[in-house]
Amino acid sequence: SQNSQDLVDFGQKHVTKGLARLTEAIITSGEGSYVNLHDGRRMLDFTCGIGVTNLGHCHPKVSKAAADQCMSLVHGQCSIAFHRPYLQLIEKLLPVMPDPSLDSFFFWNSGTEAVEAALKMARQLTGRQNIIVMQGGYHGRTYGAMGMTRSKTIYSEGSAPLMPGVFMTPFPYWHQLSMLPSTSEEELVKLSLYQLDLVLSQQTAPRDTSAILIETVLGEGGYIPAPTSFLQGLRQVCDKHGMLLILDEVQCGFGRTGKYFAAEYSGVKPDIMIIAKGLANGFPLSGVISRKELTDKLKPGSMGGTYAGNAVACAAGVACADVMREEKVLANTEARSKELFQALHNVRENPAIRPHILDVRGVGLMVAVEFSSPTASPHDPVHSPSSPKNLASRVAKRCLEKGLLILTTSVYEVIRFIPPLNISKEDMAKGCKIFGEAVEEVVK
Ligand code: PMP
Repeated sequence: SQNSQDLVDFGQKHVTKGLARLTEAIITSGEGSYVNLHDGRRMLDFTCGIGVTNLGHCHPKVSKAAADQCMSLVHGQCSIAFHRPYLQLIEKLLPVMPDPSLDSFFFWNSGTEAVEAALKMARQLTGRQNIIVMQGGYHGRTYGAMGMTRSKTIYSEGSAPLMPGVFMTPFPYWHQLSMLPSTSEEELVKLSLYQLDLVLSQQTAPRDTSAILIETVLGEGGYIPAPTSFLQGLRQVCDKHGMLLILDEVQCGFGRTGKYFAAEYSGVKPDIMIIAKGLANGFPLSGVISRKELTDKLKPGSMGGTYAGNAVACAAGVACADVMREEKVLANTEARSKELFQALHNVRENPAIRPHILDVRGVGLMVAVEFSSPTASPHDPVHSPSSPKNLASRVAKRCLEKGLLILTTSVYEVIRFIPPLNISKEDMAKGCKIFGEAVEEVVK
């Protein structure tokens, strides 16, 4: 049936309930910063399919590159031979790596698979089993990646036993500062590094610990950039103990923060970096990048995967790298980021709204607004993470009604802004206006 409601009913009946959805809508097409719905509505998309379509939906150059590749070679199995788009993509990525030492590539399909490949590499290279992850971290949904995820219990609730050998240390987090108002960020970083030291002396000895895994900007956990001094501290701890530093840039990488990789902000060199999402603007493609000197120690055959580094996805990735450069996407990201922050600060200036907004944070076009809990007392405005979400979800819902797709994140009251990196000034202003009105209507 062509009736929208009938289609939604069909979906609700036959698509697993294990999937949650932001909206019960049917997307029929996407074009730049917009998606078109079956019922005729056109929505401004500030979700990018969770940080993926960074160059807008169906960017003509990316779609054409993929279509052309479909006519020449779809499946060039990477365990059978090299294929051209795989190598071309490496050529494009080499010059934009955060450090020239990152010169050895392995492409996978999803972020999750790349995370697991990184863990496998770290274990093989160090001969150690354990891994340290961050509180609030998200790394994926399969057993290994889920076992390393600490952003929400829903991802693993009822699914145990999880992968053993995972230890967690606190991420220096703004909430801790708001609860300890006299503490500076510097002191918070010190405390976090002290906790890491305790993990290594109380829970997993360095000789058993292969790596520390961290998102350079915490994503699903609340859109919180890791402070430079924290990343530097992790680097030192890894060097001291012969552990590897793995940066997960699946969400924050490939231009999202205004630089090709968020690691550039701190200058901290990872041993392994994981990328995905924006890399191919919607084609399933991820990468595990390390140093040849390290990966030369891997046994041939220990990595692989039927669709890993698919030729069409790689060709799309090559086109993405070209578009990023030719269309000066990073410059646009920076300009739109400034406008977004200004607009959010203006929203916050409204006296009716001010008490409800705890924080506006982020980097580039990976930005979050955190609300206080509507039930919190004025003395302790921080939302209790175990109570149900309220303000952020209501604001997101109101935005949807007004034509803006926007996502929440984390167990706190957070709305995240991940618009396309090449969004126009007008569309950025439009999205911010809708958000401002939605907040005003929800808090009144
Ligand atoms: N790491 C991070 C930081 C992510 O944000 C995600 C996806 N949200 C993943 C890993 C998993 O990637 P995928 O969904 O492609 O498996």
